[in-house]
Amino acid sequence: MTRFANPSIYLCPKCGGYVTRRGFASMNFMGMKRWSDGYVSAFLVPSSISSFGRCPLCKQLFWHEDAEDIGMLPDRPAREAEWRGPFRLWLLRKLRMLDEREIEKMEVWKCIPIEWKNASVIKHPDNTDLWAMLADTESLTPEREIFLRERLWWLANDHQRRDPSDKTAQWHWSEIPVEKSRENMQRLFDLLSAEDQPDFFTLAEILRGLGRFDEAIEKLLSIKADQSEVGMKALERARASDSRVFLTSQDKSLDW
Ligand SMILES: [Zn+2]
Repeated sequence: MTRFANPSIYLCPKCGGYVTRRGFASMNFMGMKRWSDGYVSAFLVPSSISSFGRCPLCKQLFWHEDAEDIGMLPDRPAREAEWRGPFRLWLLRKLRMLDEREIEKMEVWKCIPIEWKNASVIKHPDNTDLWAMLADTESLTPEREIFLRERLWWLANDHQRRDPSDKTAQWHWSEIPVEKSRENMQRLFDLLSAEDQPDFFTLAEILRGLGRFDEAIEKLLSIKADQSEVGMKALERARASDSRVFLTSQDKSLDW
């Protein structure tokens, strides 16, 4: 089941304004599909748990982890507007329209700074914001660049995932020019190769996507990919000069 956690309050790292973000307390993904490029599609797309967002106040993009977390907003009392006046509160109590839990909530709520209560929700980024974040070199780290470039790679591959009966593929964005997409994959390949323990399968998938099939085969054989079903599929595709992504697994449901 998907339910929401209490919103946390943050300070926007760009303007210092109070912003909030709804977190997911738990999440349920129905019909999760995993793809050879690492993309996971589901009815509730994991992209909704983004690592960055747009400040509703200054409209600038920022990484969530750069925003100082100053606390969590407690539960808002159900009859907030009614208990502002002491007489109304007395009356509600008298009429037994307030239980102990509500009274407790009100006591807590009263002590919360007004800026917290008025904090606006951080806006979810859209696909074009991935490029904007890449251009913000001041806040970019190798990990963040990998995060962004991986998503751009997945977006560029999305048209290969399209299936009219498939409602899980929500990223239909084919506006990335081929040259830009290839440049992105090349840079992603370099970044992932430089990691301490590179994931050779992903590297092989990038090479296959770039049409560098011999190098992809070499990489796959170096990790004995022919001994696994998914590895064999990737090898077969590389040998057939097929650069398309493929489905690696499909789960019925997964709780987070
Ligand atoms: Zn801001």
